[in-house]
Amino acid sequence: MEDKKRRNFLKSAGGFSIVALASGAGIFFAPKLKADKLLLRPPGAVDEDDFLKLCIKCGQCLQVCPYDSIKLEDIDGKASMGMAYINPFDRGCYLCSAFPCILACPTGALDHEKDELKYVHMGMAVVINESACLALTNKKVPDSAIDRIYEHTKVISSSEKANHKVEITGNESEKQELQKKVLENLEKFRDKECTICADMCPYTPDPSLAIGMVKKEEGLVPEIRDACVGCGACVELCPTQVLNIMPRATYEQIYKKGKSNA
Ligand code: SF4
Ligand code: SF4
Ligand code: SF4
Repeated sequence: MEDKKRRNFLKSAGGFSIVALASGAGIFFAPKLKADKLLLRPPGAVDEDDFLKLCIKCGQCLQVCPYDSIKLEDIDGKASMGMAYINPFDRGCYLCSAFPCILACPTGALDHEKDELKYVHMGMAVVINESACLALTNKKVPDSAIDRIYEHTKVISSSEKANHKVEITGNESEKQELQKKVLENLEKFRDKECTICADMCPYTPDPSLAIGMVKKEEGLVPEIRDACVGCGACVELCPTQVLNIMPRATYEQIYKKGKSNA
């Protein structure tokens, strides 16, 4: 199932279609990007044409990523086969403060000058299926939405996976601890009102500059704001696939009028 989802993403990512974009609430402008070509690249990625020349498919970035966010494209990636990408439905990027992925890149495909959050721009989050948002109709977060994240977290034990409970003992590696913290924070939303996308956004120091919840009808919906860097954590964690990332797009391109998705 996950593989199928990933293959579909590789075929359409970057590019969920212009039709889909136009149907998302608050999308004012269908960006004139190479929408059918782009994948979400790790932080610091240079322009796509240069990235395709510079990435030597060495996998250094994914080896140092503590969240297991980065993958190498498989055969479905076609021309850019083997290059580093992120599928936010599988695992978003959590914007590590030191950006080890950028520092590990030996060729500059991830630009060493861009190893601070203020320089990171992977893309822009878009609301593609607002009507599915749990907050819009005040639905509680179901167990399955939280359990799903345990299932694709690689570094936890089989009993933690089965019991849907992690324990931070202080003896784990930094990588284990970071990924367990994501699960621990997510647990707060089990059977509660959903504001996962806004509350789990890793943009620091103030996630509300990137995303917030705004009133709509009887409920709430997410509003993407101009500091969003397109890391995709919200896409991974959203229980109902309300969000996606448009790689390399800017806030101005998507939300042309500077208005929200309200
Ligand atoms: S910033 Fe951290 S989580 Fe994001 S891709 Fe780089 S190493 Fe992975
Ligand atoms: S809203 Fe936050 S979590 Fe979502 S892509 Fe933007 S910066 Fe990342
Ligand atoms: S994560 Fe955000 S977009 Fe997804 S259901 Fe919850 S509130 Fe709605």
